[in-house]
Amino acid sequence: MSSQCENPVKKFLRTDRMPSIWCPGCGIGTSVNCFVRALMDSGMDPSGMAIVSGIGCTGRVAGYLNLDSFHTTHGRALPFATGLKLANPELNVVVYSGDGDLTAIGGNHFIHAARRNMDLLCICVNNLTYGMTGGQVTPTTPTPAIASTTPYGAYEPTFNLPHLAASSGASFVARWTVFHVRQLTRTIEEALGRKGFRFIEIISPCPTLFLRRNRLGDSVDEMRFYRDNSEIRNQCDTRETEIAYRGKIVVGKFVDRTRPTWREAHAARHTEALGARFIQWVGPEDDLRAPDEGMA
Ligand code: SF4
Repeated sequence: MSSQCENPVKKFLRTDRMPSIWCPGCGIGTSVNCFVRALMDSGMDPSGMAIVSGIGCTGRVAGYLNLDSFHTTHGRALPFATGLKLANPELNVVVYSGDGDLTAIGGNHFIHAARRNMDLLCICVNNLTYGMTGGQVTPTTPTPAIASTTPYGAYEPTFNLPHLAASSGASFVARWTVFHVRQLTRTIEEALGRKGFRFIEIISPCPTLFLRRNRLGDSVDEMRFYRDNSEIRNQCDTRETEIAYRGKIVVGKFVDRTRPTWREAHAARHTEALGARFIQWVGPEDDLRAPDEGMA
């Protein structure tokens, strides 16, 4: 007798929208698998969660997950997510977007969300290129990789995303590749349980636009590359996590610290300011007398 058990991830997917638009060998689906398993392991109530994404191949994640989701405009996932969190502080808000969306068009929002320590989990699938819009160069394309807008090779300095997040003020920063499914799942679960701006970068293959254009083989070759060239360095200084073209990929959990979230800082400032105004209004302590005190 044969027994079949259903994949537990399935109930978190909008199967009516399948098959997905993702190309065979794309790493985004693997990242979603890790995310859903982390959510299940965390024991968190999915009905108290909202997932927000911008535009692009990774931006489609919000549409495929069976959670309250918000597929927003290009580069603006973080401001939409910030609004959701401020309007409903009880909600667990997750931003799920690609490197082009989050760090090029949305780069300004990214540094300010980290600076404010906005209480959001921000997951960035970094495939080193713009996928859906045609394989253009992004701030994370390493030099001298070929992109549709840099046919002779990328030449602009690249962003080191963990360092950008950490130096802007994020309270939790980590990076894994889609080869590291167990570590990635555990890190997402851990980050779901933290407060403040939590950033996880997931290095992922884009076989259609990045690997093919750079003659790097297919996704299986890229997984071998991740296996052979990743260096796990937990707590490492994020200045050392830069990615050079076909160089070592430093992975691990780099930052885990406690800072007041935007909401906590806002509440503390208001309490302090209102207290000062109250003293100003009633006068210094000497004047706090009973009504008949001081009457001759
Ligand atoms: Fe994935 Fe690249 Fe295809 Fe987009 S274009 S779905 S990133 S493989």
